[in-house]
Amino acid sequence: MALELTAEMKQELASVAKQIVAPGKGILAADESTGTMGKRLASIGVENVEDNRRKFRQLLFTSSKELGRYISGVILFHETLYQKDDQGTPFVQVLKDNGIIPGIKVDKGVVQLLGTSAETTTQGLDDLGKRCAQYRADGAQFAKWRCVLKITASTPSELAIQENAHVLARYASICQQNGIVPIVEPEVIPDGDHSLPVCQKVTQRVLAATYKALHDHNVFLEGTLLKPNMVTEGASYQTKALPAEVAKATVVTLARTVPAAVPGIVFLSGGQSEERASINLSAINSCPGTKPWALSFSFGRALQASALKAWQGKVENTASSQEEFLKRAKANGSATLGKYAGEGADSAAASQSLFVSNHVY
Ligand code: 13P
Repeated sequence: MALELTAEMKQELASVAKQIVAPGKGILAADESTGTMGKRLASIGVENVEDNRRKFRQLLFTSSKELGRYISGVILFHETLYQKDDQGTPFVQVLKDNGIIPGIKVDKGVVQLLGTSAETTTQGLDDLGKRCAQYRADGAQFAKWRCVLKITASTPSELAIQENAHVLARYASICQQNGIVPIVEPEVIPDGDHSLPVCQKVTQRVLAATYKALHDHNVFLEGTLLKPNMVTEGASYQTKALPAEVAKATVVTLARTVPAAVPGIVFLSGGQSEERASINLSAINSCPGTKPWALSFSFGRALQASALKAWQGKVENTASSQEEFLKRAKANGSATLGKYAGEGADSAAASQSLFVSNHVY
């Protein structure tokens, strides 16, 4: 007999996915690996030790009772899922008490594919079923797995596209069998001097292959979310596309490739400044076109950069840092409704590019 998800499992997966993309809300990606968190902390001169990582995450998660109005889910790194606040309350509980769904990064990073121009696939399938079951028991209800595709004259190769599509589909299938909503993230990274139409073409190819693979693996689309890049010019292209141009190209690309059964699309910020990411998300939501899915955010850098800068690792800066974070959360909440006009521009950090070459998470 064929292995199938039960009707109850499907209903639960679809319901969690839908809650995550409720109007006005989106995801905080706070699942930086220990190494990536080290780079973030180094930028403010703070040592990369477990307690400093915990302190910054605590600051974010306890920033305000209001946070749950804009943030529906938080993606955690393994270490953070098991950490507690200063009072000894597990972070998972702190989030749930605020109406926020805990999620978990389950991939184990990228490795190079033989014979390609430094293209990669993402590892972590071997014990994934076991880990998903444990994470679910420990409070996680959704997961993230990031694949990376690069634009150059010779990439992405067909091998990289197919391999990453299939690993994402296999991951999604394993998550769903264990009652976890998979966020499918095939990121076309912004490195390069390519134009916006080139990014559009590549993103369309990648998403088309990803959904073919999800179908081949019998993934229940209603119980998934997509985490794509917005369609933009390359980071070293001479001019920046306008929000209306990014919005149009992004919506057209998604309309051509993402089935209407998918409840929501949560963009990564991909090194855009906090302000640009929010303005582009708002433009995407107010852009005319075929948009059967919720269009929201799952930002890492574009939600945390100003808060990190304001914090500087000092307890006396906690409140001002939390204020910066809440400001971005609120801005992105409005952007999901197409109502963010750019009032956060007064913060200098909010307009600073957050691009990191060959970004790893
Ligand atoms: P950025 O928003 O910083 O690109 O990261 C989001 C993320 O989770 C990438 O996997």
